[in-house]
Amino acid sequence: MRYRKLGRTGLMVSEIGFGGEWLERHPEEDGVRLIRRAHALGVNIIDCWMPDPKSRDIIGKGIAECRDQWIVQGHIGSTWQGGQYVRSRDLAQVRPAFEDQLRRIGGGYIDLGMIHYIDAQDEWDRAMNGPFIDYVRELHEQGVIRHIGLSTHNPRIAAQAVECGLVEMILFSVNPAFDMKPASEDLDSMFADYAQSLSGIDPERAALYQLCEARDIGLTVMKGFFGGRLFDAKTSPFGAAFTPVQLIHYALTRPAVCSILCGYDTVEQLEQAVAYETAGDDEKDYASVIASAPLHAYSGQCTYCGHCKPCPMNIDIAMVNKFYDLAIQQPTVPESVRAHYHALSPDASACIGCQSCEARCPFSVPIAERMRRTAELFQ
Ligand code: SF4
Ligand code: SF4
Repeated sequence: MRYRKLGRTGLMVSEIGFGGEWLERHPEEDGVRLIRRAHALGVNIIDCWMPDPKSRDIIGKGIAECRDQWIVQGHIGSTWQGGQYVRSRDLAQVRPAFEDQLRRIGGGYIDLGMIHYIDAQDEWDRAMNGPFIDYVRELHEQGVIRHIGLSTHNPRIAAQAVECGLVEMILFSVNPAFDMKPASEDLDSMFADYAQSLSGIDPERAALYQLCEARDIGLTVMKGFFGGRLFDAKTSPFGAAFTPVQLIHYALTRPAVCSILCGYDTVEQLEQAVAYETAGDDEKDYASVIASAPLHAYSGQCTYCGHCKPCPMNIDIAMVNKFYDLAIQQPTVPESVRAHYHALSPDASACIGCQSCEARCPFSVPIAERMRRTAELFQ
């Protein structure tokens, strides 16, 4: 298993993580076994947004023998009222729900204390100005939560979280279909008419990834498989099916992304996801699926897929493009991006303009021209 630094938290998280929301539908002993198997395979981050006692107990028991080796994303604002999940900012509900989570997960702390699921602007404004955020700060100051995170599907809210200075990491929904969606404050409408909305990479989402990378805010990923819709050509908005390994690779090649948290019903599904770690380039190749799909609009935009290799000058074209995209988002090139770019050897200035890479790019990126512009920008 490979591990990545989760931005400014400094925590090293496994590329393949564990989203816990399907645990509730299985007998406790099966869920506990699944978590222990994940640990044996090197998975070390698990999300627990679920407020129900059963899911929390399964996670607590699954990680009990090695609590200090797990990084738990626990949510503040996910509550259990009358046997049902209720998202709340009311401390009369939030406080007991969080304390219940703390007790069931065990260890006396939560690694990543997530401000739970804010997609709407008015909810963000209310949550960030009042007793809810005071409670989050209090938990952080006491060391009960070690880092503050946020879960959201909305790039506008995520960008505000980056700017606010309090949030250290974000749980964000990432897959090739969502990346083509306009920003929405309503998750339901995101699913409703996606087939009409294929219009290239949404600039707000692209800007968010780059902002997170520039500010050292690590992203963990939810909904990487679009609820399974992308596994089937009939339900995929691209009109073509992806494999789990391809979708994992897509998520893990977005800037700032550190870990994808997949849901598992079985040990086989878990092992299928972990197989990403040893998969070859052909298996990871999501780009040819997108490019050959009846519906796609990524033309001219680099998806950092690496298809354009080899380069006679040995330039890492995908990385150069990534740093270029990062740099042009800002009025001046951020020093951190400049330093990363100059660590590349060779860099864009080595390009001889042969354009042999362009014939291999599924998205018709004018690579030689971009190399020229990149070299100028980073002079
Ligand atoms: S055009 Fe530049 S980047 Fe592309 S293969 Fe030739 S030398 Fe490499
Ligand atoms: S230039 Fe084209 S082939 Fe190369 S990484 Fe970007 S999208 Fe992929």
